[in-house]
Amino acid sequence: MHSLIRKVYKALRVVPLFAVGTITNVSTSNPVAALTFDDGPDPVFTPLLLDVLKKHRTKATFFMVGKAAERHPDIVKEVAVAGHAIGNHSWDHPSFPLITGRERRTQIEACEKAIAPYGQRLFRPPYGDQNLLSRLEASWLGYQVIMYSLTAVDWLDHDAEWMKNQVISRIQNGSIILFHDSLFQYRDNRYVDRGPMLNALDMLLTEVSGRFIFVTIPELISQGRPQRAYWIKTTDINILNDRSGPYGEPRRYSKAQ
Ligand SMILES: [Zn+2]
Repeated sequence: MHSLIRKVYKALRVVPLFAVGTITNVSTSNPVAALTFDDGPDPVFTPLLLDVLKKHRTKATFFMVGKAAERHPDIVKEVAVAGHAIGNHSWDHPSFPLITGRERRTQIEACEKAIAPYGQRLFRPPYGDQNLLSRLEASWLGYQVIMYSLTAVDWLDHDAEWMKNQVISRIQNGSIILFHDSLFQYRDNRYVDRGPMLNALDMLLTEVSGRFIFVTIPELISQGRPQRAYWIKTTDINILNDRSGPYGEPRRYSKAQ
């Protein structure tokens, strides 16, 4: 089995990154970067986030979960009307390597319907989990896969100052930065509050004002050369199974899958 994995890996190295790579950032000499917000829309926090972005005249990209978008179509529309980009983050946030190909396609298509007519063909896999097949399937469905080069680690209970520093110490031209305007699933209820993330973002935008311009993912890509990586990752099943969420009991994975 291990030699097979090695062979597949070797074969991968000669397949152009363009075909199987995943966009993590953009190479550009312009002082631009992209803020991305996953797991929404959230009835409480997404409108507050829109206020912060408006205050700083900033555009962002929202990777929405279909099930949440279906429940809050008014917020989906509000995000689009404000000039932000909307991408696909699956129907109900499963780890793609742990479900079947058929289910993966259903997940992407169901989310696509929920965010229509505003969604763009941008896909971010839940948990950042991906295998080669799920990566290829996204292409076959006409999607670009967008990961990130920088995160604020805002799914735990870090304070705003810490999160702001995470980003500010590492931001570069072309960075794609991951935040969450909602947590579709979480390990602890106290992580749900997006207040610290919103404060971190407000501080960040104040501090980098004039140094960086934040644009949507399509705009960022148009200003440089997308950088791609072999992004293959699956979150530990025990970690995934130890979660709760506001949309009922989350999926439980078994080792057999
Ligand atoms: Zn997510």
